[in-house]
Amino acid sequence: MTSLKTRLTQSIKQPVKAALNQVRDLRGAHRAHLVEPTLWILMYHRVLPVNDPRCETEEPGMVVTPETFSMHLEEIQRWMPIMALEDWVRRYEAGEPLPEKACAITFDDGWLDNYEYAYPELKRRGLVASIFAVADKAGQAAPFWPNRVADLVLRQSPLLRQNPVLAPAAELLGQPYSRDTVSACIQSLKYHSEDTLNAALDNLGEATQPENSPTPDLMPWSALRELDISGVFTIGSHTRTHRRLNHASSPEQRHDEIVGSQQHLQQQLGHDVPLFCFPNGDYDDASLRLVREHYRAAVTTQNGLNRHGSLDLHQLKRIGVHEGNAKTPLQFRARLSGLG
Ligand SMILES: [Zn+2]
Repeated sequence: MTSLKTRLTQSIKQPVKAALNQVRDLRGAHRAHLVEPTLWILMYHRVLPVNDPRCETEEPGMVVTPETFSMHLEEIQRWMPIMALEDWVRRYEAGEPLPEKACAITFDDGWLDNYEYAYPELKRRGLVASIFAVADKAGQAAPFWPNRVADLVLRQSPLLRQNPVLAPAAELLGQPYSRDTVSACIQSLKYHSEDTLNAALDNLGEATQPENSPTPDLMPWSALRELDISGVFTIGSHTRTHRRLNHASSPEQRHDEIVGSQQHLQQQLGHDVPLFCFPNGDYDDASLRLVREHYRAAVTTQNGLNRHGSLDLHQLKRIGVHEGNAKTPLQFRARLSGLG
């Protein structure tokens, strides 16, 4: 239950937020005349209907509904054309003319719901987008440790008590399931390295292995190939296993995640894979050097717009949009504004 204090704070915060969004919308770059060509890159993860059970084990900042996604497409096209990221990059490199404003749509991880909900909508409208696939996880269920933890809590699995690393999640057993509580638990687990968390989950036994689930959450290769051939999506790399490319990774791991994933995707798709996306937006100098060597362009999670005169093709900025920050047209335009 929400306390009186929380309700009072919300009743003050909401009008302030709405007023700020009005200002961002009115003063935003999407409405302005721009002197140099500027590229907006939107970052999406999952597209799921409100009542889809898959929402239960997902963090709220990862999802938009099909209705919200459709509204976003309408809104973007009021202000600028939607272009494929690869196309914009190619024209930029060739010194060809670029529109004053353009927007590229990107999806991270390669979720099956992108195939189910984003693909038909983009196809119907004759639009294009990019998907960054995690090469070794294609066709897997609950592929990443946050989903695996949420799934075990949802299923009230006593296995969570087996490993002290997972103690914060074990504490949630016996309590009513809440996405917010699980989300807070996942945040607290980020204190551990990904390797520690994955190892703790792997040690719980066969039944908890993502590849042993009958329903995949990430697209299988057949779906990725279909999207690739359709011309609606360009498939880029998001590493082999979604390992964060920061200082913790060894040179061999780094090479395998960046170059190995590209080779794997190229083998599966039968052509070059020129785009890359840094997992979690984390990278160090060595990773960036390797990405520059092997890819034409790469996207980060750094918030902002890409202006022709000052952009770095291998550190492109994006604007993250989801149900929590862009559910209404005004909220979405405030995100497009480039003003925070
Ligand atoms: Zn990702």
